[in-house]
Amino acid sequence: MNGTGVNDAAADPTLADLTTMRVGGPPARILTPHTEVELIAAARDVWEDGDPWLLLGGGSNTIASDDGFDGTVIRIVTRGIQRLDTGMPGERVRLRVQAGEPWDTVVATVVANGWAGVEALSGIPGSTGAAPVQNIGAYGQELASHLTAIDFLDAATGDVRRMDAAELELGYRSSVLKTSPVRGGLRGVVVAIELDLPPNETAAGAPMSEPILYAQLADALGVSLGSRVSLAELRRTVLMLRASKGMVLDPDDPDSVSAGSFFTNPIVSSAFASTLPADAPRWPVAPDEPDLVAPLDAASAEQSASVSLLAEAARERGRRQGRRSTDVKLSAAWLIEHAGIRRSFALPGSRAAISSKHTLALTNRGGATAADVIELARYVQSRVQAEFGVILQPEPVLVGVSL
Ligand SMILES: Cc1cc2nc3c(=O)[nH]c(=O)nc-3n(C[C@H](O)[C@H](O)[C@H](O)COP(=O)(O)OP(=O)(O)OC[C@H]3O[C@@H](n4cnc5c(N)ncnc54)[C@H](O)[C@@H]3O)c2cc1C
Repeated sequence: MNGTGVNDAAADPTLADLTTMRVGGPPARILTPHTEVELIAAARDVWEDGDPWLLLGGGSNTIASDDGFDGTVIRIVTRGIQRLDTGMPGERVRLRVQAGEPWDTVVATVVANGWAGVEALSGIPGSTGAAPVQNIGAYGQELASHLTAIDFLDAATGDVRRMDAAELELGYRSSVLKTSPVRGGLRGVVVAIELDLPPNETAAGAPMSEPILYAQLADALGVSLGSRVSLAELRRTVLMLRASKGMVLDPDDPDSVSAGSFFTNPIVSSAFASTLPADAPRWPVAPDEPDLVAPLDAASAEQSASVSLLAEAARERGRRQGRRSTDVKLSAAWLIEHAGIRRSFALPGSRAAISSKHTLALTNRGGATAADVIELARYVQSRVQAEFGVILQPEPVLVGVSL
């Protein structure tokens, strides 16, 4: 490796050391670029060498093979949150964030400055550069709502170009960056992202959140759907809710040794959904915002009014993405539980188990291998398929392993 000034990793970390699921063997080589210039040079050098390559940020959405990776891992640790001049003082805020910046640092900074737009995405682990890859989302917000553009180092050309968010085809846990190139996806590096946030709105001197679109969050705050609360209170409540589900990284919580939700919520036709038990939760089409609307049967009359407005907005986005208006989203967690798989379930002798707090998370109870995790995932998948005819799809990126 010449000319990049990058440290080729002194120790020999394995992919288990670099991922939150803590599985995976050693890579052949690791590069750790600290600046944007180093990152671009490192990627170009690796591509020129023709080596297989793998990008890693926080490793919180990656399950890697026990055999490791026979190529170069580029672990992105670039930092920086820069406010761009929009030429409109007092108006919208535009930020350019380096790919390696931890996402939750971005949220904390945005909230501390009194800007709204990403507060419900508090506590999502990982790096900012990976955030557009699966269009991170939680508690009624998703990145797509405030992402304007990325700077993308394209592996096909070796050039950095600005891509508007619209070009990324951001959907529910998906984008062209997550799609395989054979299916029209893109390979390359998100070098930096640009966020556009609305001007401050305050009430009683406190900067306010965006309207709350997620029933469980509204309940925890004791407000109705569509209300706003202070940004600080919203962030605190989201972090508390996430911690109660093992969904924030916490060295003292074994349930957080995971990749978050292991399966996406399946989207099926309403005709297919009608074959499922009546109590199986289903959402009206909200293809790119799974958390946007409450289950129909869970909404109060007041909530229903907000829900239908929100569902209409989601339907419009769905139409733009070519989804059929008859599609509905199912709850993967409900399907798993009703296929008979309980919290803490583990196959005999395995060190991988379902989280004790949430059926959607697969966890490493200490010393699990990637094979253990995959075996458990396949078991869950097969039970749900046998019971309901739905094939659950993994949310994390699988490297050298498959379901
Ligand atoms: C406890 C827990 C809770 C979670 N909760 C949520 C949640 O609520 N919502 C949600 O959406 N996700 C959630 N996740 C998943 C994960 O945090 C996100 O997907 C996050 O964006 C991954 O970031 P990362 O840097 O760790 O990605 P990594 O695992 O390092 O990489 C993920 C993928 O992105 C690629 N990649 C990484 N950086 C770049 C880059 N700069 N340019 C191009 N490609 C890149 C990698 O090659 C890989 O394919 C959770 C995970 C955990 C462990």
